[in-house]
Amino acid sequence: MRGAPPPLPVLRGNALDSAGFRHGFSTRAGGVSAPPFDTCDFALLRDPAALRENQARLGAAVGFDPERLFQARQVHGARVLEPLRPRDEIEAEEADALWARAGSGAAVAVRVADCVPVLVACDATGSVAAVHAGWRGVVAGVVGAALDALGPERDGLVAAIGPCIGACCFEVGVEVAEQIERVTDASARDRVIRERRGDKAWVDLRVAVRSQLVAAGVAHARIDDVPSGAGPEACSRCNAEAFYSYRRDGDDSGRLIAVICPR
Ligand SMILES: [Zn+2]
Repeated sequence: MRGAPPPLPVLRGNALDSAGFRHGFSTRAGGVSAPPFDTCDFALLRDPAALRENQARLGAAVGFDPERLFQARQVHGARVLEPLRPRDEIEAEEADALWARAGSGAAVAVRVADCVPVLVACDATGSVAAVHAGWRGVVAGVVGAALDALGPERDGLVAAIGPCIGACCFEVGVEVAEQIERVTDASARDRVIRERRGDKAWVDLRVAVRSQLVAAGVAHARIDDVPSGAGPEACSRCNAEAFYSYRRDGDDSGRLIAVICPR
């Protein structure tokens, strides 16, 4: 018999913690993946043995059974799925958010490398959702769709926005920036495009996602940025020691994971 897996270091949001929801955002640390994906890659189709061990360590850190970890095939859309079938069937389904109801015993997760991972919970019902929100998903409305899946209750919502690409590095064409600006709530629309230069623009996806959470009924004070602060240490592309980044490493980029468990 092997011993218990050593728990991974994970980042957490204060509001989710205070509400008692088990959750975590992984970093590159604490896993067994080989270079260039060292050390804690959660890509589904790369290295099955390393993935199994990384998932076991994640389960030990967050407090769930790795056999009950559910993820879907992410396609930058707005479909929200409740995992009611076997794991391998859910992993073949296209969806960019998963939700789980209280008592289901399911842990739901999304994988990212620059895109925004969002974890949401409802303190009143005990339900949770994990959301993969790249710019296409933000434009498609995946954040609002995930909140709708949790039900009409809005008073008890808490959320955390995890490690993603910062405005320092998220350079896009002006037409993409303007699409993101249009789906950003009016309260934050003047802040979502950080800078314009010629036909390029630098966009703050955290601002867009936060504004959509607030527009859907989550209180500002109950949404944490993880890690806190908007400096380069929080940017997946700038902080190569802590995070994977597709923009930085291309096909050599691993995947981070964000996971949450219902009551
Ligand atoms: Zn950056």
